[in-house]
Amino acid sequence: MKVRELGEFNLIARISEITGQEKGRVVLGIGDDASLLSSRPGFHIVTTTDMLIEGIHFLRERIPFRDLGYKSLAVNVSDLAAMGAVPLQAFVSIGLPGDTDVREVEAFYEGIMEAAGNLLQVSGGDTVSSPAGWAVSITVIGEVRKDRELRRDAARAGESLYLCGHVGDSAAGLSVILGRVTSLDAKIADFLVEAHNRPVPQIEVGMALAERGISRCAIDISDGLLQDLGHVCRASGVGAAVHLDRLPLTQEMRAAAAAHGVDPHQWPLTGGEDYSLLFTVAPGRERELDRMIGELGAEAAHIGEITGGEEITLFLEGERRPLPGTGGYDHFRKG
Ligand code: ADP
Ligand code: MG
Repeated sequence: MKVRELGEFNLIARISEITGQEKGRVVLGIGDDASLLSSRPGFHIVTTTDMLIEGIHFLRERIPFRDLGYKSLAVNVSDLAAMGAVPLQAFVSIGLPGDTDVREVEAFYEGIMEAAGNLLQVSGGDTVSSPAGWAVSITVIGEVRKDRELRRDAARAGESLYLCGHVGDSAAGLSVILGRVTSLDAKIADFLVEAHNRPVPQIEVGMALAERGISRCAIDISDGLLQDLGHVCRASGVGAAVHLDRLPLTQEMRAAAAAHGVDPHQWPLTGGEDYSLLFTVAPGRERELDRMIGELGAEAAHIGEITGGEEITLFLEGERRPLPGTGGYDHFRKG
């Protein structure tokens, strides 16, 4: 069987059968946004890795190198946010064609440092030549207090479902970059392209949720809201009800959807690379959450509830809506 037929997520399931169950000090292995390793008393080391390939994740001539560096690190930091972890250090490996201009590599690292902020140290990596385009592989390490980590398998029926950060902007931005949406006001187009090239990981919110124990369950939206919520539901053995009219959508994304002739919920539900944070909150903790979000100067939308069963149901103004046909990004299944 070809990997194309199996699909990305079934392939990862096969790999995880071969690599086996957690052992030794590994508390959580394959299957979440990051792994957990028992470390100093009361804490876990949190590790995550992501790879970006030219032609798949980015088009070299369409993204400034500084933005490429920024985004490559930001998507990894987003996985730490989804565990509630504090970022500590990063390892950055790059594959480059020999005729790459040194200035491009420097700009890439300036972007890396911008996304690293004050917390994260770049402590190593690897540099190799590549026959066909850039490849970037980044590993990020963080730390979270034991039993405070935000896991995909910790959602329980009756909890409220929240989303921090917008959804759909990145997919709309990609359509602008690819020239599929034209006739947009330049300001709107720039806003959406920036959302695609420079996603903002919700690291402070993730850390605060874990520290204060307000949430036990989170995932970052890398493959579209439906697919990532589906991962939470499958891992936790729960369902979810999502109210489409409560989704945090920007005017810019709505304008692009209208110009492109797609339903305004299509990109938020099935587009990818928003890197907003989806999390659950136990009944009775909502006011504490509101206070925390206010203190951080952030915004969080209460988009639905975790339910029994294993189904995701969508509502628009109280009426049930069918799930859209395509279900988010899979590296081997196109379309
Ligand atoms: P995310 O979108 O949050 O980065 P992925 O969907 O890429 O997560 O990965 C899901 C899980 O599968 C993660 O725990 C990841 O570490 C693991 N995984 C993905 N590919 C491999 C692989 N080739 N070998 C081992 N584990 C993998
Ligand atoms: Mg993730």
